[in-house]
Amino acid sequence: MTSSNTTSPLNAIADQALGLADAPVQIDAAPAAAEAVSTGPTFASLGLSAEVVSALTAAGYQNPTLVQQRAIPAGIAGRDLLVSSPTGSGKTAAFMLPAIERFAQLQKAQASQPREPRPADGGRGRRPKPVARPTMLVLTPTRELAMQVTTAAATYGKHLKCLRTVSILGGVAYGQQLMLLAKNPEILVATPGRLIDHLERGCIDLSQLQILVLDEADRMLDMGFIEDIETIVEAMPATRQTMLFSATLDGKIGSLTGRLLKDPERIEIVQRMEQRTNIAQTVHYVDDRDHKDRLLDHLLRDEGLDQAIVFTATKIDADQLAGRLADAGFESAALHGDLPQGARNRTIRALRERRVRVLVATDVAARGIDIPGITHVFNYDLPKFAEDYVHRIGRTGRAGRSGIAVSLVHHAEQGALKRIERFVRTPLPVNVVEGFEPRKAEPTGNGRLGFGGRGRPGGNGGRRFGSGSGKPVGNGGSRDGGYGARRNDGPRTARRGS
Ligand code: AMP
Repeated sequence: MTSSNTTSPLNAIADQALGLADAPVQIDAAPAAAEAVSTGPTFASLGLSAEVVSALTAAGYQNPTLVQQRAIPAGIAGRDLLVSSPTGSGKTAAFMLPAIERFAQLQKAQASQPREPRPADGGRGRRPKPVARPTMLVLTPTRELAMQVTTAAATYGKHLKCLRTVSILGGVAYGQQLMLLAKNPEILVATPGRLIDHLERGCIDLSQLQILVLDEADRMLDMGFIEDIETIVEAMPATRQTMLFSATLDGKIGSLTGRLLKDPERIEIVQRMEQRTNIAQTVHYVDDRDHKDRLLDHLLRDEGLDQAIVFTATKIDADQLAGRLADAGFESAALHGDLPQGARNRTIRALRERRVRVLVATDVAARGIDIPGITHVFNYDLPKFAEDYVHRIGRTGRAGRSGIAVSLVHHAEQGALKRIERFVRTPLPVNVVEGFEPRKAEPTGNGRLGFGGRGRPGGNGGRRFGSGSGKPVGNGGSRDGGYGARRNDGPRTARRGS
């Protein structure tokens, strides 16, 4: 149900904010957020208040990225936004900062007025059941992304008084969420399913919502959330500001945007993959699963590797591979959608704290995970959709660092590899490691590094993991590797099935 055509306090502030060009913008993006343009505008010149700028400075942000340069002024002005921006380009701040600025301005406007309490029952006296009435809602496809957005909100808004952000995620106990909702947070960051549960139970009321963000909208559509999104949107006022972020703005997003957005500022940050020079991408051909495992073991022992994500096609493969790697002495854990949220949170925390050095994950981790120590991404299996390749490799080379992305490809996967190369508009060079040559040679040409003749099959004594060449990641005591290598007690989520 949509309601109310009155101008909201936030919209009133927007009316005074910057006027903006209507033309769609297409910009070639810098590869990562830290390549924020130092010669361009500053955060202050985009309209952000001193307290927001100081929080950004404390977070190490000096200059806005391209998407932030376009989105922040338009967002502060209350415009709807339709944004396509590559992974790692600073898009979370591109929607969070204008929203936080609007909260900051609202708080200043209210500072001179007598303070009204903001009880969760909306101020109607008796409180039989607390109902949260948020001002802003961010919808994300995955729980991990939701938690990162929540952290970003806390970071950027840390100098604002009383700006509470709560994540509403599936897999978390209801009681705990109800306690958080009872505080009537200003910002909710939610995955669609659990939010609908709370709406149906009457614990959340969206009738006062002023800002809606759809983060990774294309992914939400792919995951079948379209009806959930429509249900949620019907519960909020039509007068809200809507900011929609998506990797692509093609057909399927088009029909959604037509219904959700009003005269949006369209911002397309185009990033050519060939410009992603900070991520070295290679392909290694493998003969079979055993060859793949042995080569992965070898590559994981690279001296330059700090932390790695290994992507598998299935949840069961993620569990099994994490287990095999743990047996070989790697501090590994699995992450996929079948694991309880508590286990997923613990694994991400362990990765962040470097207690996990090799995360084996399905595409649930392909977006949103932002951990600076990830130096390597391995495609143990190629992704089903070419665009997921870009999201996967974007987990390394974060914020201007360099990264390495290796795809282990079976000859039968040529078609999938070609689709990826077409998508990224560049051929991926083929590498061969001495002692791990595939039996079948690939044709040279097409910009590839070819190799001739038959390589030595194996070169690793037939062992899948634990060849002992190099150091097991972070284990410090397993140079002998092997199946009996001493293990670290870090999380082994997959093995324990937690
Ligand atoms: P995102 O695209 O939102 O996932 O952001 C990618 C990474 O860039 C995150 O680690 C952000 O904290 C970081 N970041 C975002 N904006 C900036 C900026 N203007 N300067 C430096 N780092 C940034």
